[in-house]
Amino acid sequence: MPERIPLARPNITQAEIDAVVAVLQTPNLSLGPKLTEFERAFADYCGTNEAVACSSGTAGLHILTRAYGLSPGNEVVTTPFSFVASANCALIEGAIPVFVDVDPHTWNIDATRIEAAVTTKTKAIIPVDVFGNVADMSPIETLARTHNLRVIEDSCEALGARYRGRPAGTLGDAGVFGFYPNKQMTTGEGGMIITDDGEIARLCRSLRNQGRDGGGGWLAHPRLGYNYRLSDINCALGIAQLARIDELIAQRCRVLSAYQTRLSGERRIALQRLTPEVEISPFVFVVRLADAYTQNDRDRILCELDDRGIGCSNYFTPIHLQPFYRERFGYKPGDFPVCEGLAQRTVALPFHHELTEHDIDRVCHELQALL
Ligand SMILES: *Cc1c(COP(=O)(O)O)cnc(C)c1O
Repeated sequence: MPERIPLARPNITQAEIDAVVAVLQTPNLSLGPKLTEFERAFADYCGTNEAVACSSGTAGLHILTRAYGLSPGNEVVTTPFSFVASANCALIEGAIPVFVDVDPHTWNIDATRIEAAVTTKTKAIIPVDVFGNVADMSPIETLARTHNLRVIEDSCEALGARYRGRPAGTLGDAGVFGFYPNKQMTTGEGGMIITDDGEIARLCRSLRNQGRDGGGGWLAHPRLGYNYRLSDINCALGIAQLARIDELIAQRCRVLSAYQTRLSGERRIALQRLTPEVEISPFVFVVRLADAYTQNDRDRILCELDDRGIGCSNYFTPIHLQPFYRERFGYKPGDFPVCEGLAQRTVALPFHHELTEHDIDRVCHELQALL
């Protein structure tokens, strides 16, 4: 039996291990110098004024919904084809996520349909850069200006991607990244908010730290906040990963391009379309089976691949069809047909920095045999 090929794996070198151990030899395990250093390095990498580290990408999204005052009575336009956190962050604050179906080719929110979803209650748009492919941000920026909406860019899957030359995460009022171990870089758990708005950054730093303000002391809490801090241990890991980010992304681009070459001409699947505006920073490698395949066919293929030692997954289950969204809002199959048709037919194949041509050939061979 050949060795199992995992779906994802982090890329950790001795530099990361040394950096973490060095922090453990100091007394500063949280709110120490590594936090400031990580935030500064991250802001420099993205070219923003501010970066605010937090305990996860989800925490970053939640902090921003608070910082922008999203609350009951507000609506937030977003995509149903995403990880559940991009809509949950609105719901947690009592704002209503309003879904707009996706483009059948780019798999991102269909910007041409957003305006029809905007009402007098709409306060923000949360576009998601799905699988590292940046959402069509120009029309979204125009709409946001016209209707006075905030844009929170969920770039958790797109660190290092660009849109018309501008970095993912910098295209709205604020952007969020996640550092779970399957992302382009990892801190174990962790996230980062980026923005040019110093006032929003100050508020985010307060919200992540129990509502404390700069000078008031440890037991002064002028506002309701959370403990969404990121420890200096995680930050040291993040600094070491960020120092290697160009290499990490280059490896992922190599793997993506090897898959694209290997599968070009395979008519039974489609790949995500990349428009000329976008430079992708690949997060996962997902193929969409042709319309002739059903969800059952797809699920059988996932089981069979797994049996043959190929790590795989569906990506994503539509957010509106998650049980608590159905119960609360009455969503049902058919509400967002493009998203659902896609989600029923996705197969995520192994994708990480260390995959060889030989691994990729084996994965594609097994997939094609099952097709
Ligand atoms: C990974 C991810 C997040 C954040 O995830 P955490 O596990 O909370 O760091 C948010 N949105 C999307 C689209 C993601 O892929």
